[in-house]
Order: sequence, then C-alpha cells, then structure tokens
Amino acid sequence: MTAPLDVQPTPLALLLLGRESDPKSERGVECPGDLPAPSDPDLVERARAAKAKLGERVFVLGHHYQRDEVIDFADVTGDSFKLARDAAARPEAEYIVFCGVHFMAESADILTSERQKVVLPDLAAGCSMADMATAEQVAECWDVLTEAGVADVTVPVSYMNSSADIKAFTGRHGGTICTSSNARRALEWAFGQRADGAGPQDGKVLFLPDQHLGRNTAVREMGMSLEDCVVYNPHKPGGGLTAQQLRDARMILWRGHCSVHGRFSLESVRDVRERIPGVNVLVHPECKHEVVAAADHVGSTEHIIKALEAAPAGSKWAVGTELNLVRRLADRFADEDKEVVFLDRTVCFCSTMNRIDLPHLVWALESLVDGKVVNRIEVDAETEKFAKLALERMLALP
Ligand code: SF4
Repeated sequence: MTAPLDVQPTPLALLLLGRESDPKSERGVECPGDLPAPSDPDLVERARAAKAKLGERVFVLGHHYQRDEVIDFADVTGDSFKLARDAAARPEAEYIVFCGVHFMAESADILTSERQKVVLPDLAAGCSMADMATAEQVAECWDVLTEAGVADVTVPVSYMNSSADIKAFTGRHGGTICTSSNARRALEWAFGQRADGAGPQDGKVLFLPDQHLGRNTAVREMGMSLEDCVVYNPHKPGGGLTAQQLRDARMILWRGHCSVHGRFSLESVRDVRERIPGVNVLVHPECKHEVVAAADHVGSTEHIIKALEAAPAGSKWAVGTELNLVRRLADRFADEDKEVVFLDRTVCFCSTMNRIDLPHLVWALESLVDGKVVNRIEVDAETEKFAKLALERMLALP
C-alpha cells in the first residue's frame, strides 16, 4: 500500500512556512509585545489558558488549510464563506480570531456586527491570488471595457478570494460574489442580468481574480468553449486584448491564479495514475483547466471532504488541494481503509496560510486577555456597504 503522504517540507519550505522566521512578517509588520518563541514548551497550555479566560467572548475560526497546531484551537473549521457566516451567527463573541488569510478576515468583518472585532493573528497572512487584482487595476480594466463598448453588457463576478475593495467594485457595478461551490449559479445569474433586456447569450462576465475557476466553470459546467474565454492581463496595455477580442468574448477572465492549486499539472495526474492503479483523482476547481479535465472528480474543499466521507472502504484517492488539509484527511480516513494521497510529489503548503502558527495565536489570545486588540481587521464603511451588496446578491442566488 502506498504511504498516504510521502512528502517532507524542505528547508526552503520550512522557511516559507515561517518555522524559522522571526517575528517580523514578510510585509514588514512587526508584532508589538512579545511573540512567544516557537520552541516554548508551554505554548499549548498558554493557548488553552488564554482561550479559557476569554470564554464566550472569543470565537476562533480555523480555515481548512491551517496547520494542525492551530486547527486544534478552532471552535469551528470550514472554508472562508462558511467561517464568515459562522462568525456572524455568534453575536455574543466580542472577538473573532480568524485563523486564515487577510481577505477572509475582511469578509468576516463585513458580515459581523459593529461591536465584533476581527483579529488576524499575523498580518502577513495574505493571499497571493487576492493580491493579483488591485482596485486601481480593476478600475483601469473597466475603463478598457468602456472604451471597447462592452462595459454596459458586462457583469462582474468576483470569487470570494478577493479583497474587500474588489468585492465593493463588484457590488457597485451590479455584480455578485461567488464561491467555488456556487460559481455556476453565479455565472448563470450574471448572464441573465442584461439591463437592456436582451437574451443572456449576449451578455459578458468579467470574472475576478481566479482565471481557472472562471474558465473551469464556464467550459466544464456550462458548455462554453475555450474560445469564449479571453484573459485580461492587468500588466499589459488594454489588458493585452483588442477591442474586437473583448467584443467577441463571453467570459473575460482576470489573469490571476492560486499559487498552490496552480502548481498541479497534467504530469501530476498521469504520474499518480501510474503509481496507484485504480486511483480516483479529485481536484479543486482552482486547478488549471487541463488538470481539471483529466481528473475524475472536481469540487470545493467542502465537496472534497464530503466525497471522501461517502467513499467506500478500500477506495484510493489522489487529492489536489492544499497539503495541510490533504494530510489531515489522509490521517482521518486511514482507519476506514480509504487511501488518500497528495496529488503532487512536491510540497504544496500555502505559505501565507502557514504564517498563522501557534506563537501568533498565543500572542493574539493573550493580548486580548490583557485588553489589547491586536491586528484588528476593519473594512471602511463605504467599502463595506458595496461589498456587502455583492455578498447579499450571492446569498440571494437561486
Ligand atoms: S491556497 Fe491559494 S487561494 Fe487559498 S489563501 Fe493560499 S494562495 Fe490564496
């Protein structure tokens, strides 16, 4: 039987994961006060004690991709949208400690009440995909679409994995947010939004910021062709597209991707099929189109977990999503005689997700015990208003 996971972090990966890092983040943010040393033998006890002192006043959210040492202290786990909703459903919690990345903490702040304070234990925990679409770049893109005469027939659809600014842009321009679970419904809704009453076939969608989720949903789930999709490159004049290309396209995909899921390749799929005869390949829709096309099953993290829960004993699975989650799933299902392996042979942690470690969690919790709210994430009122509008449109999707 193949070992569930035969990958070990390299020294470089350990450095990227922050195991060897000092308290200064990649963004130059310094933790005020004392960040405990990773070698402190009392970290687990300190986290437990601080959480107990805070009681119902604190609610700790743990994204599926977080390290085990952090997940152990999460009150709930889930994907970013589920966690934001969980936080909103706990109004008695004054502090929401979000163990995830920056855009997730922003979404939690948008969806929670005024009196709830959202804390991100390490401000360096960003998301490379979300950072690939800035407000200025997207405003410029809209100007390009306007000049090409297509802005008035284009509806923006933004993936949850985007900054609050991009969500607000989406809300202002009549668009919606989507997750990897409801992207198809969001696109169908968007194509039906033509203000002039023309048929859905004539509309366009500007999909931000993950080109792969947009393309996979349009082609795999909605029967569009690859030719219906164009990629807008914010680093090129006019997005690198002619006005005619924009007019001919149905899906205008932003040139963004996830630096974790984008690493899986067709080669990984072929290799695992050779190594493990009869294996089911199960991947996230943030993977490249050729990987998704070669896989047996495709779905969000919640879908991946449910698929493995429902899988029969004796089945074999190669999973293409973040390594922390795959490793936990491999351990969890080993007792049920389900073999779960990581799709790729190389280490594929999300380095920014891994910025949140036990020392940062302890520091954030102990600071709250001392009455100091550190690393608070606050979205300004104007941005919040329009970002919420886009999120509410998603909640109202049929
Ligand atoms: S896994 Fe990808 S999308 Fe998720 S936080 Fe990391 S870089 Fe962003």
